[in-house]
Amino acid sequence: MKKNDMILEVIFKEGPLFREKIIDKSGIGSITIGKIIKNLIEEGKIVKDGKIISGRGRSKSLYKVNPDLYYIEGISFDGSKFIVGVTDLEGKIIYKFERKFETENQENFISEINSIIEKVEKDLKTKREKIINIGFSFPGTIDIKKGEILGLCNWENWDAINLKKIFKKNFYLFDIPDVLARAEYEIRKGERIKNLIYIYLGEGIGLGVVLNGKLYYGSTGNFGEIGHIIVNENGERCYCGNYGCLEKFAGMNSIIENVKEGIKEGVHSEIGKIIEGDINKIDIEKIKIGIEKGDKLCFEVIEKAGKYVGKVSALLVNIFNPEIIVFGGLLTQVGDTFLSTIKYYVKKEALPILCKDLKIEFSNMDEKEGIIKGTSLTIIDIMKEDKNLFNLKKDIK
Ligand SMILES: [Zn+2]
Repeated sequence: MKKNDMILEVIFKEGPLFREKIIDKSGIGSITIGKIIKNLIEEGKIVKDGKIISGRGRSKSLYKVNPDLYYIEGISFDGSKFIVGVTDLEGKIIYKFERKFETENQENFISEINSIIEKVEKDLKTKREKIINIGFSFPGTIDIKKGEILGLCNWENWDAINLKKIFKKNFYLFDIPDVLARAEYEIRKGERIKNLIYIYLGEGIGLGVVLNGKLYYGSTGNFGEIGHIIVNENGERCYCGNYGCLEKFAGMNSIIENVKEGIKEGVHSEIGKIIEGDINKIDIEKIKIGIEKGDKLCFEVIEKAGKYVGKVSALLVNIFNPEIIVFGGLLTQVGDTFLSTIKYYVKKEALPILCKDLKIEFSNMDEKEGIIKGTSLTIIDIMKEDKNLFNLKKDIK
């Protein structure tokens, strides 16, 4: 490796750094380092990142890699839409859009991804060459080692898709809750947290875990299927084949379905007025209003969901001993009643010593931005561990 590339890599992986630190870490002499730093600045590869006044009152410059040197593209599919974004090397979003996609046709799915990649390249014009990695995150089964999508949501007749092979680009695959956990961890950097549990509560329920400051992937990238933990054997049948999975009580569709069932059975409900007799109008927003108006049916359904989410969270607390559990996803919009129930069951069932300083919170993060940022930051983490950092493009040619 050329000395310039080596220094660039040291600064990227460990920067921002002072000149003395760069000398320390690279083992290259002071005069040569001075020349290399000058070169790298002229080439626009590194930039000064502030100054610190040293002991004798002289100021020392910090150097970091120019965040605009390369970009990361993040594409996410949630079952009905694509969320697309591009960030710089610090995870700052420089471009984004979203696009609906509602058919369950695999061929169309692949051509849609292709059209998205083309659109990004066209829109970014001269900057397109700078995109060195693409991250793809979605709620299906994946093989992160092979770079293959094995299945998507509950679509049937799915053939494995190897994105790297099809598009001849550097693809990294991720599970959505994992990248959201990574983004949430970044937001909370100031809180000095090392171990964070992120639970996604939407149509599906997913788990992302940061342990000792690093995102945990499992061996294939598919860990954390907590939606299919059986919480009540007498529960309804789940599409996975079992009875009484967490998702049947706390998945968004199940919650809406459970409120509908109650109304069909003739239970008096305050939201009857809001939905004007049309039970198809029931959604999370209406259930939230119901709870605010003291509606017993909505309250009961949400309390049961909170109870089982709390019980599963208590298990996770006993296993991982995190500093914080953060909940994200549309379901968190139902508000404080839900959070209080979750907290009650975590404290009731997890070991007291593990709950002493435990924080349990709903996320304040914008989910779409979180997915884009989280995907990029996860790739940047991987790049920082890579031995062949800025030659990544080679392995796809
Ligand atoms: Zn299940």
